[in-house]
Amino acid sequence: MIPEVISKQPAAGRYPPNLRDYAAACAQFSWADARAALSGLPDGGLNIAYEAVDRHAAGSRATHVALRWLGQDGTRHDYTYADLRDLSSRFANVLRGLGCGPGSRVFVLAGRIPELYVSVLGTLKSGGVSCTLFSAFGPEPIHTRLEIGAADVLVTTESLYRKKVAGLRERLPRLRQVLLVGDRDAETAVADTLDFRKMLAAASADFQVERTSPDDPALLHFTSGTTGKPKGAVHVHGAVVAHHVTGQLALDLHPEDVFWCTADPGWVTGMSYGIISPLTNGVTSIVDEGDFDAERWYSILRQEQVSVWYTAPTAVRMMMKGGTAAVRRHEFPALRFIASVGEPLNPQAVLWGIEAFGLPIHDNWWQTETGGIMIANYAAMAIKPGSMGRPLPGVEAAVVHQTAEGRIAVCRPGEEGELALRAGWPSMFRGYLGNGERYRKCFVDGWYLSGDLARQDDDGYVWFVGRADDVIKSSGHLIGPFEVESALTEHPAVAEAGVIGKPDPVQFETVKAFVALKQGHEPSEALRRELLGFARKRLGAAVAPKEIDFLPALPHTRSGKIMRRLLKARELGLPEGDTSTLEGTA
Ligand code: ATP
Ligand code: MG
Repeated sequence: MIPEVISKQPAAGRYPPNLRDYAAACAQFSWADARAALSGLPDGGLNIAYEAVDRHAAGSRATHVALRWLGQDGTRHDYTYADLRDLSSRFANVLRGLGCGPGSRVFVLAGRIPELYVSVLGTLKSGGVSCTLFSAFGPEPIHTRLEIGAADVLVTTESLYRKKVAGLRERLPRLRQVLLVGDRDAETAVADTLDFRKMLAAASADFQVERTSPDDPALLHFTSGTTGKPKGAVHVHGAVVAHHVTGQLALDLHPEDVFWCTADPGWVTGMSYGIISPLTNGVTSIVDEGDFDAERWYSILRQEQVSVWYTAPTAVRMMMKGGTAAVRRHEFPALRFIASVGEPLNPQAVLWGIEAFGLPIHDNWWQTETGGIMIANYAAMAIKPGSMGRPLPGVEAAVVHQTAEGRIAVCRPGEEGELALRAGWPSMFRGYLGNGERYRKCFVDGWYLSGDLARQDDDGYVWFVGRADDVIKSSGHLIGPFEVESALTEHPAVAEAGVIGKPDPVQFETVKAFVALKQGHEPSEALRRELLGFARKRLGAAVAPKEIDFLPALPHTRSGKIMRRLLKARELGLPEGDTSTLEGTA
């Protein structure tokens, strides 16, 4: 059975939680104080990379390890804050030398290699706008993003260039320079490109960080494309205030932590929490070049003595698939806090954290558009499994609906509505590139409307219902797919479930579930009937699925989200739409 509440022990030990009393933290919080905790540029202004790297490099943390890079082949390389300052300054000088000034768009298309991190930080120092693309994208998604983002410079690897970019150059007249990280240490000599390493080595390590202001654009992120064509969200240097403070409050970062965010920087989580937040907080951040592999991950957690770990439901479900015994073969004495984002975290997964690691998994919620964590389960706060937690101090979040006059009204506790945030937090996106109309539509009456449906209980905990686009309407009920999926994943045979509404002449829609099974279980008619009955018992006949199909695996975005729109399109024989972010395509 799933407990309603997991209470927490009073704060003790070496690392008392940063946020000890939620109500007091909310009452005391101000964004001005959060801004004052950063140093700002010496002559005024605010720059993300300066806060992340240079201010630490100028002080007592200069020799502290900032990034510990773990290569796929077992190589391990440490970069101190001073190393990162010098390398990123060199890259900023390279950009200057190429005539790239403030506002230039510098894209990176690469796996998780050290040069990616150097490029991002150097770009920010130079006043340019950084955009990281997922390396598994095929040529067309790369072309679309470079074009929408009006890329001036691209940093990529020799092999990615040859395979995916060389053939696009003619169609990208604006792209002025391509810098290649060679596959070998030898110089690269590929036509129409420059050698990244050679240029970095020749550049000066002295660079005065461009005097950017909090409102200057810094980052461009494409959304995951879960619900449709990916959108390019623009973020500003002022976002660093949120990156920094959420690292402390929601991820409970302490100066001596070893932090591991498993997300790829091609997605916003890998940028905000794989690069910026840990560095502004001066901790050691692990970067693993390899892809998901449960055994490898357990080894990293153990060997690197990871203390705070930020991962995603899809990874948790894959680990669950492999069973608890595999985890228990290792010990993780340093591990103190586990958090997850990106998709609903089924209550079963929260508990599995306790079973496997001795720690519950703390769900939190945010989006590309919000730039940073907005709703979270905090280290010292009781968890209600299945809830995303409570709003970040300083963030006004509410479940709302629009009145007939187009005003925003806050729902009563328990009532379902759209999750909204009062506009104005520092990491709020400032536009969708090339789509001003869509951006304006997100804001009504001073609120940002997230497109997600939720409800808030009497204690202020927020419960995810579903994306507005995914919610199922059946016989007058509104059914959130998450609730149905969570009930199915309580069954011991089920690894993952995706639920859609299937058009029905009588009920408008009926609930249909797609299920992937855990190792050791095979699809059968008997199991299908068992699952239908199991769900009906838990959910009642009105909400339970009427149909269940078995799939070897569910379709996911590359950032790990179940693509329900694809399940639906395939079920109904409709066009699949934009599949550029679908995992397993190139
Ligand atoms: P697109 O906007 O292109 O359809 P996307 O919304 O998946 O893609 P992201 O910005 O990467 O792109 O994801 C944010 C969304 O992920 C949220 O709006 C929400 O639907 C979902 N999400 C994130 N965290 C959680 C969570 N903890 N629980 C439930 N859903 C979550
Ligand atoms: Mg979205």
